Amino acid sequence: MESLGVLLTLPMNPYLEAELHRRCHLFRLWESPPAHRKDFLQANAPSIRAVVGNATVGADAETIDALPRLEIVASYSVGLDKVDLARCRERGIRVTYTPDVLTDDAADLAIGLSIATLRRLCEADRYVRAGSWKAKGDYKLTSRFSGKTVGILGLGRIGLAVAKRAEAFGCPICYHSRTKNPNVNYKYFHSVLELAGNCDVLIVACPLTKETHHIINHEVINTLGPKGVLVNIGRGPHVDEPELISALVEGRLGAAALDVYEHEPDIPEELFRLENVVLTPHVGSATWETRKAMADLVLGNLEAHVLNKPLLTPFL
Ligand code: NAP
Repeated sequence: MESLGVLLTLPMNPYLEAELHRRCHLFRLWESPPAHRKDFLQANAPSIRAVVGNATVGADAETIDALPRLEIVASYSVGLDKVDLARCRERGIRVTYTPDVLTDDAADLAIGLSIATLRRLCEADRYVRAGSWKAKGDYKLTSRFSGKTVGILGLGRIGLAVAKRAEAFGCPICYHSRTKNPNVNYKYFHSVLELAGNCDVLIVACPLTKETHHIINHEVINTLGPKGVLVNIGRGPHVDEPELISALVEGRLGAAALDVYEHEPDIPEELFRLENVVLTPHVGSATWETRKAMADLVLGNLEAHVLNKPLLTPFL
C-alpha cells in the first residue's frame, strides 16, 4: 500500500493513524489551517487516491471535487451522512464503512442511557457527591426501566441489538422502519408518530438522510408525552433540538438521553441546566475494542482496494 496516498480528515484513532502512516503515504487534513485547506488539497491532489473520514468530517462534495484521482472513501463509521454518496456514485468512487463491529457497543449505550435516564443515575451520582444524601436524606423515587414499552426507530443492525437487550428486561418491543421486518414478531407501526404514541421509551437508531432529518419533531415529541423518554443514539439532526428543549422545559416530554447533537460539539446550554436529561459526547462506538476493530476494517478495505480484491465492507 506504500504508493496509496491517503487523506485522513481528523485525528480519529492513534492506532489507525500510525498504521496509515506506516503502510501508506499519509496526508493529515487537520494540520492545514481551515483557511488553507483548499490550497493543501490542490497541492496534494495528484497523490491522494483515498479519503479516510469519520462521523464528524467525511468526504463532502467540495473535498471530492478537489481530488480528481480519488478512488475510495473508507469511512471510520457506519453512518455515511458526512459522505456525499451521490457525488461518489457519479464519479465511480468506492465507499466502505464499518458496520456490525460497533453494533453491540451502540446497543449497550442505548440501554445504558435508557436506564440512566429513568433511574436518574447521573443526578443520583451528583446527589451523593454533593453530600446531599447526608444533608437532605434519601434520594427521590424514580421510574423503572424493566417492563417499559420500547419503541425503536430504525430496526436495523443496532435497532435489532437494542431490541434483543430490551427483551431481556421484559420490555415489549415495537418499531418503525420504512419496511416491515418479516423475521421478527415485534409490533410494527407505519409511522414514527404512531410509534411515539405507543411506547414509553423511544430509541432513535436510523441513519441520517433527507427523510430522517428532524424526524423527531414537535408532533412526535408531544405524542411521546410528559411520561415519555427519548433516547437518541442515531445522529443529532434527527431531532429538532430547540423543540426538544422547549418540550423538556415545559414538561411536554418526560426526559431525554442524547449521545448525538445537531451541531456537535456545540450543545445548547439549556440542556446543561435540565435534570431530566442525560448527555454523552457521541460515544456510541467509543470503546478500545470496537475502535480497534473499526480501524482494522478501514485498513483491510484500503488493502483490498489496492490489491484489487473484494472489499471487506463495501457500501458502494
Ligand atoms: P442499519 O443496519 O442500516 O439500520 C438502519 C435502520 O433504519 C434500518 O432498519 C432502516 O430500515 C431504517 N431506516 C432507514 N431510513 C429510515 C427512515 N426514513 N425512516 C425510518 N427508518 C429508516 O444501520 P445501523 O448499523 O443499525 O446504524 C444505524 C445508525 O446509527 C447509523 O446510520 C449511524 O448514524 C448511527 N450510529 C450512531 C453511533 C453513535 O456513536 N451514536 C454509532 C453507530 C451508529 P428501512 O430501510 O426499512 O427503513
